[in-house]
Amino acid sequence: MNKDYYKILGITEFDSAENIKSAYRKLARKFHPDIAGNSAENLFKFKEINEAYEILSNNIKKEEYDKARKFYNYAKEGAKSNSATQSYNKTTTSKPETNFNWQNFFYKPKKHSENKTAQKGDNIESEVEISLIEAIEGCSKTINLLKTDVCQHCQGRKFVNGTICNKCHGKGEFTTYKKFNVKIPAGIKNGSKIRLAGEGNSGKNGGANGDIYLIIKIKEPNLNNNSLNIYKTISITPFEAVLGCELNTNTPEGVVSFKLAPNTQNGQKIKLSKCGLVQNNKIGDMIITVEIQIPKKLSTEEINLYKKLSEISKSNIRDEFYDRQG
Ligand SMILES: [Zn+2]
Repeated sequence: MNKDYYKILGITEFDSAENIKSAYRKLARKFHPDIAGNSAENLFKFKEINEAYEILSNNIKKEEYDKARKFYNYAKEGAKSNSATQSYNKTTTSKPETNFNWQNFFYKPKKHSENKTAQKGDNIESEVEISLIEAIEGCSKTINLLKTDVCQHCQGRKFVNGTICNKCHGKGEFTTYKKFNVKIPAGIKNGSKIRLAGEGNSGKNGGANGDIYLIIKIKEPNLNNNSLNIYKTISITPFEAVLGCELNTNTPEGVVSFKLAPNTQNGQKIKLSKCGLVQNNKIGDMIITVEIQIPKKLSTEEINLYKKLSEISKSNIRDEFYDRQG
């Protein structure tokens, strides 16, 4: 076996994970290039220590390595006795079986092959809870997700010029919370999935990034305390209020159009029958309150028309108000 990782760390295969860690720490400190210098010999030693720890501190890699090591030791013993037999039968012309290619059984740390193969990043799945009204109307949500990105400093290689990357401390990647702004479309159903392509964990060795899948969970409305009616406010312009107009609204059953009568007052309520929530064969209504709003940006032409309106208008809205009060 070209490398015995146990020997490199000065431990045995029977040592605990704790012992492996403490042995590694001692040696990593001793041979750290900042302390022991940047000689080729020392860097090689330091790399070897890190390579050994990378394998022996990872249960899966360790198991794989242990198997390869056992097989090697077993085969080595076999080869000794085999060569003894061979020397006994000197007349044989057959090729001695001791020409075994040990290289095939050397444990090769995975990172070598990983370095060459592009790996797609993992997908991230997360649940997003929204209210029923948000599901009907559509909404924007900011969500925080744990995301793993390749370290840009070492490009995920963990080492920079033979020294452990000082940005990721040899991890090759960063896992942090990241904010995502997501638009949830109107009429979304419970359990729907929203895919954010390429926003998942970053790929390795040039592999594509994973995706994010958001699973929509619609909160059950507390119908014991609320009625089956849905209440909402819709903004209209002054001229829509005067002339009347056609409006659209999202309901649990989809988009519904309705007409607003001319001369609609601010705060007026419109009832859309059977456009509310459904429970036990009962269905509520949607109650819409209209709110007259003056557009924040008006063109010169619009302002001129308002000027003209103020010139020709003979009614005094405050008189009308006092008349109604009286
Ligand atoms: Zn790094």
